[in-house]
Amino acid sequence: MARYTDPVCRQCRRIGEKLFLKGDRCYTPRCAVERRKRPPGEQVPRRRRPSDWAIQLKEKQKARFTYGVLERQFRGYYDAARRQPGATGDILLQLLESRLDNVVYRLSFVDSRRQARQLVNHGHFTVNGKRMDIPSYRVKPDDTIAWKNVNGSRPSFIEALTNGIPKRPVPSWLSLDVASLTGQVIGPPEMSEIDTGIDSRLIVEFYSR
Ligand code: SF4
Repeated sequence: MARYTDPVCRQCRRIGEKLFLKGDRCYTPRCAVERRKRPPGEQVPRRRRPSDWAIQLKEKQKARFTYGVLERQFRGYYDAARRQPGATGDILLQLLESRLDNVVYRLSFVDSRRQARQLVNHGHFTVNGKRMDIPSYRVKPDDTIAWKNVNGSRPSFIEALTNGIPKRPVPSWLSLDVASLTGQVIGPPEMSEIDTGIDSRLIVEFYSR
């Protein structure tokens, strides 16, 4: 399976803002965006004002990096969103939010979508009682997502979840039972609770050219 292998902080520096791809580190002064304001790579003189196309491209890349999706798969999400009735940009974001790795992150099992993707790949989660190791699996209302002990031990962040409250507020379209380490999908993702700051209108404009 193809995946992005460069340092993830470069993605934030490329976009020029924090995308919170590394969990706790993102909230410390060690964050690469805090330490180095300039984009990565060779510094070339920039045009004073970016073109509309550059702004749209950047927003599309921001969405890709945030959800950890490669270009081809992202284009697939866009095409799927376009085929559905309703606002394409909103549906695109809802499709991305419905990915299993994102739902594991939203349920506060882990600190980042990247970590969620890895744990899903390693078979640490079940959907409706069956092991599911496909991070892009699209969850549906009434699906139940549960932590599964693979090696007989639970990582510290899972222990921390059972001992206290989730690190982040769980959105209203999901519910979490910390005692049983189980989450439930109540309905489709609520647009008002997608806090990624992505302007999906610009992504639609990018692909509509
Ligand atoms: Fe981005 Fe987090 Fe790295 Fe900062 S620490 S650059 S927010 S991934």
